[in-house]
Amino acid sequence: MNIIRILPDSLISKIAAGEVVARPASAVKELIDNAIDAKATSIEIDIKNGGSKQITIIDNGSGMSFDDALLSISQHATSKISNEHDLENIETMGFRGEALAAIASVSKLEIETKLNDPNIIEGTMLRVEGDVIMEHRATGCPAGTKISISDLFFNTPARKKFLRSDSVELSHIANTVDTMALYYNDINFKLTNNGAKKSFYPKTNNAIDRISDVMGKEIRNSLTEFEDVGENLKIRGFLGKPDIAKANAKSIYLFLNKRPIKDRILQHALLMAYESVLTRGLYPVSVIFLEIANNLVDVNVHPTKNEVRFTNSGMVHDFIAASVRKAISKRSIPVLSPDQPTNNTTDTISPFPETFYRPARQTSVSPFSFLTPKNNSETPDCTAKTQAANNSAGTEPSFNVIDTSVKVIGQFNNSFIICEHENGQLIIVDQHAAHERLGFEFLKSQYHSGHIKQQRLLIPENIILSAKELVVIEENKELIEKSGFELEVFSGNSIVIKAVPEILGNVSLKHIFEKLADEFSDFESSSAIKDSIEKIFSVIACHRQVRAGDQLTKQELEELVKDIEKYNITHCPHGRPAVVSFDTSDIEKWFKRS
Ligand code: ADP
Ligand code: MG
Repeated sequence: MNIIRILPDSLISKIAAGEVVARPASAVKELIDNAIDAKATSIEIDIKNGGSKQITIIDNGSGMSFDDALLSISQHATSKISNEHDLENIETMGFRGEALAAIASVSKLEIETKLNDPNIIEGTMLRVEGDVIMEHRATGCPAGTKISISDLFFNTPARKKFLRSDSVELSHIANTVDTMALYYNDINFKLTNNGAKKSFYPKTNNAIDRISDVMGKEIRNSLTEFEDVGENLKIRGFLGKPDIAKANAKSIYLFLNKRPIKDRILQHALLMAYESVLTRGLYPVSVIFLEIANNLVDVNVHPTKNEVRFTNSGMVHDFIAASVRKAISKRSIPVLSPDQPTNNTTDTISPFPETFYRPARQTSVSPFSFLTPKNNSETPDCTAKTQAANNSAGTEPSFNVIDTSVKVIGQFNNSFIICEHENGQLIIVDQHAAHERLGFEFLKSQYHSGHIKQQRLLIPENIILSAKELVVIEENKELIEKSGFELEVFSGNSIVIKAVPEILGNVSLKHIFEKLADEFSDFESSSAIKDSIEKIFSVIACHRQVRAGDQLTKQELEELVKDIEKYNITHCPHGRPAVVSFDTSDIEKWFKRS
């Protein structure tokens, strides 16, 4: 049985102080933490009106004794640490001894708890209203703990005012439950709101089962498991393919030593690793569990413990970036030389559609393979790639004809370019996605070299926008002009475009500006200029001339394929695959020839 003690002042002064209960979801988080620390295998969360009316959490964990139930709501009362050594080696979710005290002081709190010990028959009931003990008595109740919080912030109206609508508060709670459930797949989680079931995650010993319960079954095939070990740290998790990337970071779940955290350094490492397959502004769906020796990280820097401080953040950053990068590149289809057997040879031959789908799925992650020269040091491809790399780092690219190992067979459905690689792969290029990415890269390199080529319009084009769109365009005028446009804003909701980036050609400017307004309206204004500029580039690139459905001449097809190879294009700026490849051996299997 755990015994609760009040922490000594010397230890209290070392604990990051601050408020932990800002909204119903933060109370739910603290109570889930407590249930986890009590080794519960089942946690039920029942909410009324988004949590502002009532939050009840029932667990089947260790429970508390009569005396401990009372102590648990005192400030700095905890069973989890008792000295400085414990504080430096925290193994539990909680350790500050403040959550229940904080919750009790701003709500009507009721605890029913019974020790999880067959010899103990009686439980305890404790009722507190804003710090005043109303009842403390023995009662009959199941083993474990049930905590009900009613009328949160009833005695602090200023804080109550900050609560958002029930549905918003509920969405925060649901997100808290989902996040915790992602790590603790061996615990049953159930969330209901006003009696209606919101989430139910039965316990499983398989992390991917839980992830697909939380994020949706369809995500399963788009995630790849990975694992890596370093000195004093370990990483494992699931990385999403670029096709399912999101426009915000909400689908990045990071856990450090069993705790969900928000960390810019870790997120940066992840994004850096994805850089080659994902454009800026998109975020990979990913669930990452990092374990690191206690002496290399301090969790005692923030009251809610969702921020940490690393002793050597550079080392952690580089380890994560390298591990993720390795995992991503492993997923690319290997280049098979004729003497290298495919590692798929043991696959049974599956029915046509399934076999057909498999290579496409694999390559949609990272079909770099056809771009990889057979001999890294000497082939013309390699020179072309180095040139491309140099170009994207600074100088303007020149779309010279280069030797290519890819032969264009033809165009399919006026949308896809079918090619043959000299190493025996069949390559299919999505012409619009590839052309879009090329435009994006081209603009980026012009921008880095200091000048985006402009084309002045003979007759300036007048565009009418909605008032809301106009505000957004006006706010971002400077950035839009840096991207190659020249415009003037007039009254009456109109703007006049005088010049456009040369690369754009003759397309509808109204659509572009509507799209730009839309993109910027939910873009954080604090975003880095680089992100904003790239957002504009991706809109421009998307509206360039080659679209799906355009018939291209053989020469245009060849030019496009050469550029794709030269610029190592794999995905469009939105993360959709631009190129997929199939090995001859896979194709032979479709026809049961292997
Ligand atoms: P902390 O978790 O930091 O110790 P809390 O205020 O959250 O502080 O909880 C105080 C103490 O109450 C805990 O240390 C624990 O001993 C006890 N406690 C709280 N919730 C539970 C629970 N669900 N089951 C068993 N014990 C609990
Ligand atoms: Mg706690």
